[in-house]
Amino acid sequence: MSAGPRRIPLSEPLLAGKEWEYVKECLDTGWVSTAGPFISRFEKEFAAYVGAPHAVAAVNGTAALHAALLAVGVEPGEEVLVANLTFVAPANAIRYCGAFPVFMDAHPDTWQIDAGKVARFLDGECETRQGACVNKRSGRRVRAIVPVHLLGLACEIDRIVEIARRHGLKVVEDAAEAMGVRYRGRHVGTFGDAGAFSFNGNKIMTTGGGGMIATADAGLARRAAYLTTQAKDDPVEYFHREIGFNYRLGNVQAALGSAQLERLPNLIARKRRIAEIYARTFAGVEGLTPMPTTPHTEATYWLYTILLSPETTVERRKAFIVSLGAKGIEARPLWHTLTDMPPFADCQSFGIEHSPRLYARAVSLPSGSGLCEDDVRASAQAVLSCLRAA
Ligand SMILES: *Cc1c(COP(=O)(O)O)cnc(C)c1O
Repeated sequence: MSAGPRRIPLSEPLLAGKEWEYVKECLDTGWVSTAGPFISRFEKEFAAYVGAPHAVAAVNGTAALHAALLAVGVEPGEEVLVANLTFVAPANAIRYCGAFPVFMDAHPDTWQIDAGKVARFLDGECETRQGACVNKRSGRRVRAIVPVHLLGLACEIDRIVEIARRHGLKVVEDAAEAMGVRYRGRHVGTFGDAGAFSFNGNKIMTTGGGGMIATADAGLARRAAYLTTQAKDDPVEYFHREIGFNYRLGNVQAALGSAQLERLPNLIARKRRIAEIYARTFAGVEGLTPMPTTPHTEATYWLYTILLSPETTVERRKAFIVSLGAKGIEARPLWHTLTDMPPFADCQSFGIEHSPRLYARAVSLPSGSGLCEDDVRASAQAVLSCLRAA
């Protein structure tokens, strides 16, 4: 380690509950693979927590998204609407199905997928042909929407589900960053046909790596469970009617999940306290926009994120992150807009206007549940001092 200021990390897991005890139980009993009592226990506990009738565990959030998209019936050559300002996983999962993402802009105030633009795209650019919603420009069938709940906030999911129903589309919510978030009193990920969650190391709760599909539809849950366990039709003869995936979560990961879930209210309380400290410090500061809250949302602030001034360039934002780094503060940009990436160069987008500016201006700050309040205050003060210097 080099000398210098103490490093304050962006996001590190807090494993302060029964993680050791439960993992030891796996090792002591030999249940270390994709069978074992913690997997169904974690699924049941998770389902109860989010208020979904069914939950199916998966190896990671991306696999959960992929399996959920297949389970709602996304087929090769179809299109799926998705946020432009997000981690690449949902767009990749759409491509894994052989379908094509159509990128939707972010709302400038909430940074979430813009429900108004989704409606305008479907009403103006699509038409119903033989009961199917078809994109007039591409001629492809639009099958589903993947609204992303960004940064521990919530998108306008009730409105998106209503628009989707009007056009006969399925909804797979990407709630990977939104564990614990409630919208109008209901947990996000339970509004659409299915919701996908992530328990990656830096997410709100972690299993090392892991994911979950939540759904109210028993048939969809069965289908997702089937697809994530190699589509095995006969467990004795190993007969498979179709191509499945080795996407089942392991028992050790599930043991971590059960332990993390027990502590989740505490992890979330810490996230909210971190957001509160940042919000207080940044209130009224010129040249800085604090993280928004979204309407009707009990937020969990996965990564507390600010915007630099409207005229900031990507270069200046990069320099700002470097200057924070020099003070020991690990900050990072918000997700790179997907429309600018080579794998999606041929994909259609609609009304892209605000997401590239949000990407250019945004800086995510240290937000791990394990941070002490002094570290958060030090991080907030470092932001102010870098801002004055810039
Ligand atoms: C983290 C994340 C995922 C994927 O989760 P993994 O468990 O890392 O596969 C999906 N969508 C969003 C928006 C994410 O932030």
